[in-house]
Amino acid sequence: MGVKNPWEPVQSISNTQTPRRRELPVQHGKTGQFGILTTRVSKVIDWGRSSSLWPVSFGLACCAIEMMSASADRFDISRFGAEVFRASPRQADLMIVAGRCSTKMAPVLRQIYDQMPDPKWVIAMGACASCGGVFNNYAIVQGVDKIVPVDVFIPGCPPTPDMLLFGLNELQRKIREGIPNPPDPLKASGLKLVGPIGEEL
Ligand code: SF4
Repeated sequence: MGVKNPWEPVQSISNTQTPRRRELPVQHGKTGQFGILTTRVSKVIDWGRSSSLWPVSFGLACCAIEMMSASADRFDISRFGAEVFRASPRQADLMIVAGRCSTKMAPVLRQIYDQMPDPKWVIAMGACASCGGVFNNYAIVQGVDKIVPVDVFIPGCPPTPDMLLFGLNELQRKIREGIPNPPDPLKASGLKLVGPIGEEL
């Protein structure tokens, strides 16, 4: 009979702690042997992409304040892996259109979208970005889905930071389920955006 270790802990969990399952999730429930976990490479890639969305810094109006708030400590967008706001569209895969988009800004928005590498996604945050909001006039684009393919619309004026987080969760779900982007509105319509001095973009 071996010598018993006198320092061996008599209890490995505290009385206030919920006991955790000891076996790993891939262990067989009855035999305790390690099993085989099968998946598809595309599923792992989609999971990785959905958990590390990098938004491009693109605030247009009052909704942008709520977007900034979502990235601050109280709401903490980094819990969902999306806190890396990039100043360059070349390093971003998510565009959060936060605020109303003026007709003059539309070509700029589209150009930034075009500069983002594929795959990429768009969230229209707020009533203005989704449908023009209260600004039913010639100066405001009546929904940015007329110039970029929008994956998720978030209603509200302004939507609260937790509504943005909910929209982000919905986008993550779409990515994990492999739901493709909607059709590109410019390609579908055959229309072209021109710049402020009439140049073709
Ligand atoms: S939806 Fe409301 S809060 Fe957002 S940009 Fe429009 S007016 Fe401002």
